[in-house]
Amino acid sequence: MKALIVVAHPEPDSFTLALAAAGRLSLEQQGWEVAVSDLYRMQFKAVLDRDDFTTVSNPDRFNVSLEQRHAWSHQGLAPDVAAEVARLLATDLLILQFPLWWFAAPAILKGWIDRVFLSGVVYGRNAMFERGRLAGKRALICLTTGGPAEAFGPNGLYGEIDDLLRPLHRGVLGFTGMTVLPPFVCHDVPYAGDDARRDMLDRYRAHLNRLDTLEALAMPRLADHLDRLQPSLRRPAG
Ligand SMILES: Cc1cc2nc3c(=O)[nH]c(=O)nc-3n(C[C@H](O)[C@H](O)[C@H](O)COP(=O)(O)OP(=O)(O)OC[C@H]3O[C@@H](n4cnc5c(N)ncnc54)[C@H](O)[C@@H]3O)c2cc1C
Repeated sequence: MKALIVVAHPEPDSFTLALAAAGRLSLEQQGWEVAVSDLYRMQFKAVLDRDDFTTVSNPDRFNVSLEQRHAWSHQGLAPDVAAEVARLLATDLLILQFPLWWFAAPAILKGWIDRVFLSGVVYGRNAMFERGRLAGKRALICLTTGGPAEAFGPNGLYGEIDDLLRPLHRGVLGFTGMTVLPPFVCHDVPYAGDDARRDMLDRYRAHLNRLDTLEALAMPRLADHLDRLQPSLRRPAG
């Protein structure tokens, strides 16, 4: 089984990188083959633009979805994108590892998603959720926050963590068909103290040791919504 850890943090000695290393070791000890995309060390370009493609479908107007589809079928992806798409398609388990920045993932990770989750390859107009092209793969978010757990609880100051993670859980991972496992969240990380942080690393290893027993998050089913969507969406998955 293959796992891909995509990690987004500018500091190599960060706690985020320590979590990524702990996760890698834990999975390898269970027999997983683990790849790590360390986006900052790779200097991964965060912005999707024309340079993502060596082919051109329409020189007059840049339509991202159409260029992605065209490039995919004509071997026209930029090498950094092509390499990450290959890693994504090969993996059985995707882990997104990041610190919460402004209630979201760092831009470099958002950019990885924008550039790598190709139209026509990982999703299509009627290939989403249970029909998404990444069905059969599992995904898990491991994140750190500066705020304490209470701030992310019911009626918390920042709002519930599930709400903050919905764009990734539902809008990216579930949308493309992946089975989304419960996130592992480390709160209060800068202020918790070394012992508490070491405990977080231990608990993360334990979380990964029971992957097969974790209950996946509920996701909507496209089939349950087809009647309410445009007629064009009701065609068979393409
Ligand atoms: C732009 C920006 C926006 C932010 N927005 C939000 C937000 O919206 N909500 C929110 O809650 N927070 C926010 N924060 C805070 C941020 O989420 C936290 O600072 C971050 O999650 C902490 O994780 P880290 O990996 O960066 O920790 P680090 O700062 O890298 O490390 C924390 C401590 O852990 C120590 N450490 C490193 N490795 C280990 C190890 N192996 N064992 C034990 N200790 C170790 C480090 O030395 C350091 O003392 C934001 C921060 C920034 C910069």
